[in-house]
Amino acid sequence: MTNPVKGRRIAIIGGGLSGLAAAHRLIELSAGQLPPLEITLFEASPRLGGIIGTQRIDDYLVDTGADSFLTNKPGAIGLCKRLGLESRLVATDTRYRGVHVLFDGRPVPVPEGFQLLSPSAIWPILTTPILSPWGKLRMLMEYFVPPGDVADESLADFVRRRFGRETLDRLVQPLVGGIYTSDPEKLSLAATMPRFLDMERAYGSLIRASRKEKKSKRAMASDTTSGGARYGLFAGFAGGMEELLAALRTQANLGCNVRTGMRIHSLSQVGSSAGYSVVLANGTQELFDAVVVATTAHQAAKLLGELDPALSSELNQIEYASSAIIVTAHKLANVRHPLNSFGLVVPHRERRRILATSFSSRKFPERAPAGSVLMRTFVGGAMQPELNDYEDASLKRIVRDELADIFGIQGPPEIELVVRYPRAMPQYHVGHLDRVNRLESLTATHPGLALAGNAFRGVGIPDSIVSGEAAAETIFRSGRDAERT
Ligand SMILES: Cc1cc2nc3c(=O)[nH]c(=O)nc-3n(C[C@H](O)[C@H](O)[C@H](O)COP(=O)(O)OP(=O)(O)OC[C@H]3O[C@@H](n4cnc5c(N)ncnc54)[C@H](O)[C@@H]3O)c2cc1C
Repeated sequence: MTNPVKGRRIAIIGGGLSGLAAAHRLIELSAGQLPPLEITLFEASPRLGGIIGTQRIDDYLVDTGADSFLTNKPGAIGLCKRLGLESRLVATDTRYRGVHVLFDGRPVPVPEGFQLLSPSAIWPILTTPILSPWGKLRMLMEYFVPPGDVADESLADFVRRRFGRETLDRLVQPLVGGIYTSDPEKLSLAATMPRFLDMERAYGSLIRASRKEKKSKRAMASDTTSGGARYGLFAGFAGGMEELLAALRTQANLGCNVRTGMRIHSLSQVGSSAGYSVVLANGTQELFDAVVVATTAHQAAKLLGELDPALSSELNQIEYASSAIIVTAHKLANVRHPLNSFGLVVPHRERRRILATSFSSRKFPERAPAGSVLMRTFVGGAMQPELNDYEDASLKRIVRDELADIFGIQGPPEIELVVRYPRAMPQYHVGHLDRVNRLESLTATHPGLALAGNAFRGVGIPDSIVSGEAAAETIFRSGRDAERT
């Protein structure tokens, strides 16, 4: 199908972060190549960026989706460097570092050194009111619990086995729920947080491993070349996540044919050749040598149903959770609580109707005018799916009531916005990694086809970037291989 004068035709379906990262990597890889690649980026909605976005509302800078990313994974920092965005990165404000957890209706600081699953310091555990004396003892007995031998275990099983039920219910479930909006009884530890399994295997105990890590981190703290030391564990952008999107959009517009408002209906193989026919929602067909599918797994399942029913069925079985973020801003004079952390996570056992609240203007500078605070409250997720069906007005009312009760916030908010994320967060359930291995084997049987997105090997921004870039590299290599044969 390759025209001797024109270059290989490549379609990228989905203009979220993964698709944009794939486009950017293809442009990088093919720089100076003749004839140049002909890359077309199809995006169903009118704007590129998918579930990431930033809005300026009055004097507030609001990240409506993701607001920060992990710096200890190389994907995002590496891309920022290549895009010349390094100087735009902002570290989280050290004055407020830490998180509160709701305990018996009141916000209590998560014990210092407690990292998602595991404590790295003993004293904060002994003094926290969150755990009972027995809960503390059971947590610290982790030191002596022998390593397990289950290949893929749920997060809940793992934490109960190593630290006991109280640690799961009062600390781990809300902290992890804040990231994955998931049910810990179903979440695969191997697929979401394999480093804790590695710690168990290497040291026999997570407490032992965390204490060792803490020592080596202290040594690293003097090393300013390491991403973690330079930015802290999380970084954002001075102007919000939109800065990353804007840089990627500029690159895409320079190197691709960007077609927004263009929903793709399906893909099929062109006769016995290696090419693909991309069927647009209006029924027209366009031919491509290679395709990157960078949508959610359920959208990809629809696109690939005709091409490969087995692949489509595997994709369909990746479950998704829906959620909403209710953005509010308040005069600090109307807030009784000092809001002296990055936010609050809410255990399921507290029987509240919110999952977490992030204090955006405590995390990053210049998100709110002096004397005000910007907050983002998460509702719904896999644990409270019924809330996703509520009208905006009901969600606003619920959040007002909860924030008033928990933080003593009086009066109506300065701004109030509901942003919905229907079926946006993939749930890596037990068995996920086996499914992804099967998916990758099935995809490899279609030369010139690659999947990208946060449904496979990581849900965060660095993972989405790595996934898009890996898909681009697969497609680029497949072209080279085809030329050689
Ligand atoms: C509420 C929320 C908060 C988050 N916060 C963070 C955070 O703070 N830090 C972090 O690291 N990660 C965070 N994440 C995760 C992160 O935002 C995602 O991993 C990342 O944005 C996923 O990008 P994507 O391109 O894979 O998917 P998407 O953004 O979903 O993009 C897929 C794109 O494909 C398009 N599309 C779908 N079907 C078709 C079709 N048939 N034809 C054409 N186009 C199609 C869609 O319109 C969409 O634009 C958060 C996620 C959510 C939901």
